[in-house]
Amino acid sequence: MTGNEQVSKIYDVVVNRNAGEPLFHQAVAEVFESLTVVLKRHPHYANFGLIERLCEPERQIIFRVPWTDDAGNVRVNRGFRVQYNSVLGPYKGGLRFHPSVNLGMVKFLGFEQIFKNALTGLPIGGGKGGSDFDPKGRSESEIMRFCQSFMTELQRHIGEYTDVPAGDIGVGGREIGYLFGQYKRLTNSYESGVLTGKGLTWGGSQVRKEATGYGVTYFVANMLEAKGTEISGKKVVISGSGNVAIYAIEKVHQLGGTAIACSDSSGYIVDEDGIDLELLKDIKEVQRGRICEYVETRKSARFIENGSIWDVPCDVALPCATQNELTEQDAKTLIKNGVIAVAEGANMPTTPEALKLFREAGVAFAPGKAANAGGVATSALEMQQNASRDSWHFDYTDERLAAIMRDIHGRCSETSEEFGKPGDYVLGANIAGFVKVADAMFSMGVI
Ligand code: GLU
Repeated sequence: MTGNEQVSKIYDVVVNRNAGEPLFHQAVAEVFESLTVVLKRHPHYANFGLIERLCEPERQIIFRVPWTDDAGNVRVNRGFRVQYNSVLGPYKGGLRFHPSVNLGMVKFLGFEQIFKNALTGLPIGGGKGGSDFDPKGRSESEIMRFCQSFMTELQRHIGEYTDVPAGDIGVGGREIGYLFGQYKRLTNSYESGVLTGKGLTWGGSQVRKEATGYGVTYFVANMLEAKGTEISGKKVVISGSGNVAIYAIEKVHQLGGTAIACSDSSGYIVDEDGIDLELLKDIKEVQRGRICEYVETRKSARFIENGSIWDVPCDVALPCATQNELTEQDAKTLIKNGVIAVAEGANMPTTPEALKLFREAGVAFAPGKAANAGGVATSALEMQQNASRDSWHFDYTDERLAAIMRDIHGRCSETSEEFGKPGDYVLGANIAGFVKVADAMFSMGVI
């Protein structure tokens, strides 16, 4: 059997065994595409059911999350934690609170997380979790009660050496605070290293909040440098306006680029003068408002309710909202408008069809598992600080982050060259991540 046949046979089994989970299938297919070339050169990776084991989570936990809303009604949500792979370290990955969350989504995110975490070079395994709870429109006390109920069940499955959750969509510093408080109360121990993304006064790390967005921009800076250019003077379009997008914009501006558009689920804004970050932070972080409010203060900007943010001409595109947000049509428009680099701040925001077009057009493309790894890498730095009961300064932590992103870029780039596809960061990231995990799995035997 050729590597290709072996991989497609395993893929069929994965699809049949995980029916109705298209996002998970998509994430597996993307990695498998790169595996064919590895198996050709190193056929031993197909031995001992390694690829089959890699696709099957070590443990999948689904639980009931009952809570009472402000009107006194009992609500029931579903909680998930997929503990995917722990050969490199404790399971590590965020929690997503969004009505669209289901097991297939958590599995796709957990699968990606294994390779992303491997690429950071830090000792963290892969996992992911969340709930179909919708935080939109919920009061502060409803959010708190939900988080407490969620943690009441989750606490028995996590721990500093077992599984270390963090934030993702719908879970930020506020939620991590409620989750940590409940964990501490239930276990009667101050186990700082059980969650990351904590507040700065109680065990959190400097730069964690900024890390994913900063890291994406550092990765783009490295990609552009490899092409003999730089961010300075470039127009950048960034989808989303959450944590990742806001701090990607901040770093783009610090490096001399201009972020001209960003979005939320209600539409997008275009501000050709460069996004006013203080205003954006006030709307999104302080008021928890909608993006359309931006144009009420900033008269020169436009709000577009319908249509795609990728219609805005730019040099660099950073999809930082959610999965499959950048479609084939969007890719065509971006390429027509002369985009030179695309980096995924979100997890799997580019559809496979769009990715194909970027690759064919020679656009520098950074997949999420490389480009957005700065968030989880800084979580690992938070774990280091917690373990040594230390806390580092902002600039030092930011330097560590920049160095980690440079290393990830180097690793992806070298691997793409080694396998005869220089500049193919998708191939480089998939192979470099896979080889690291696979080698560790071999060392530990059939487990
Ligand atoms: N949710 C983030 C990610 O997708 C961060 C996870 C973490 O810090 O553990 O990588």
